[in-house]
Amino acid sequence: MKVCKFGGTSVASAEQIKKVAAIVGEDTKRKIVVVSAPGKRFNDDIKVTDLLIKLAEASLSTGETEKELQAVVDRYADIAKGLGLDEHIVNIIEEDLRGRLTINRDNRDLFVDQLKASGEDNNAKLIAAYFSSIGMEAEYVNPKEAGLIVSDEPGRARALPEAYENLSNLRDRKGIVVFPGFFGYSRDGVMMTFARGGSDITGSILAAAVNAELYENFTDVDSVFAANPKVVDSPVEIKRMTYREMRELSYAGFSVFHDEALMPAFQRSVPVCIKNTNNPSAEGTMIVAEREYSKSPVIGIAADGGFSTIYVSKYLMNRELGFGRRLLQILEDEYISYEHTPSGIDDLSVIVRSHQLTPEKEARIISRCREELLVDDVYVEHHFAMVVLVGEGMHNTRGLTARATTAISRVGANIEMINQGSSEVSLVFGIQEKDTESVLKELYKEFFSTSAVLGV
Ligand code: ASP
Repeated sequence: MKVCKFGGTSVASAEQIKKVAAIVGEDTKRKIVVVSAPGKRFNDDIKVTDLLIKLAEASLSTGETEKELQAVVDRYADIAKGLGLDEHIVNIIEEDLRGRLTINRDNRDLFVDQLKASGEDNNAKLIAAYFSSIGMEAEYVNPKEAGLIVSDEPGRARALPEAYENLSNLRDRKGIVVFPGFFGYSRDGVMMTFARGGSDITGSILAAAVNAELYENFTDVDSVFAANPKVVDSPVEIKRMTYREMRELSYAGFSVFHDEALMPAFQRSVPVCIKNTNNPSAEGTMIVAEREYSKSPVIGIAADGGFSTIYVSKYLMNRELGFGRRLLQILEDEYISYEHTPSGIDDLSVIVRSHQLTPEKEARIISRCREELLVDDVYVEHHFAMVVLVGEGMHNTRGLTARATTAISRVGANIEMINQGSSEVSLVFGIQEKDTESVLKELYKEFFSTSAVLGV
């Protein structure tokens, strides 16, 4: 059995959904179909999820929601019309949305989650109706009924262990299961969404639960590329990569596959294939437990901006028991998680995602470092980017860091930090955000130009 997930652009219009039906119909093993909310049809289009967030915000602020509600209903009406479905399904969707707008809003996050989740929920109902209308045996299955139990964290829920047991029963369904991505229900029966882009996570949970032979993740590119094609001209396609490599790349900006979606498939050894709805005969990228890496130690290079550094220094820091713990406790008290902690004998930098900081939080952190940790120096700096070289073969390859640092210096960028994880599957360079594109291009040239690949 295969689980396939179709992302926002794959289900953005009637034309796209017809492609989905053809793909599902051509392989009888494609028994579970996870769908996103309708995404962008063209560059400046707005995803239905974003329309729904606007709707929730309008409802919470002015209470005037007709315009925002109509924008969402129109998207579904347009799709239904293109698929030759009658008004009935659109009425169901409109009624559902109006119902959601009347629910209790004491908890703002829960209210927004209810609306956000409707994007995939209603799309799954619509797609199941379409499949049936063209003679495919298909049914919409609700995550509550199927037992997708998640933690009580609106906007960033995680599946709980019992979810897998419950969802394994989907194996026994007769026809095709059309399942909405992006949300589950808490143990108390309250709807909670995953992080943004989280339909990938639903697909992976389902694939693990039913022990699928393959999890196919359909998107709008032929494969995962070795670097961002918006920055590097025609980067090479990655045919086969490991879970760890994908995890590292998606952490640092590869948006093809959600970083939280790897774990469920990995734990049950379900291979993942990234494929293109618009070109389904292309082979795609396989994500598996192992690959042959002697020829290409580096498989991809990712870069992501939006990092800040909290720098502290104190003479004899290395001898001070509990210094690091107390520093991280200050961050925990501000609900800040950290990414990297490069350190020297007497200094330590904590690298965090900038969106977690506010001027007030920064001021509190600085004054607590001074008053409680008695540091010699402390400051916060912004606008850093992390560039990550990823590849399972890196730990066996000598001279790789030298090549990378030389390439970075060639474009005149300063390396603010180097971090090699103990797994040695990635090598991270902290640089100024403004240098990101030039560094990425130069590193790509260093490791992927024809002469680099041929070793000449
Ligand atoms: N529709 C959701 C989002 O835009 C989830 C997804 O598409 O995977 O974040």
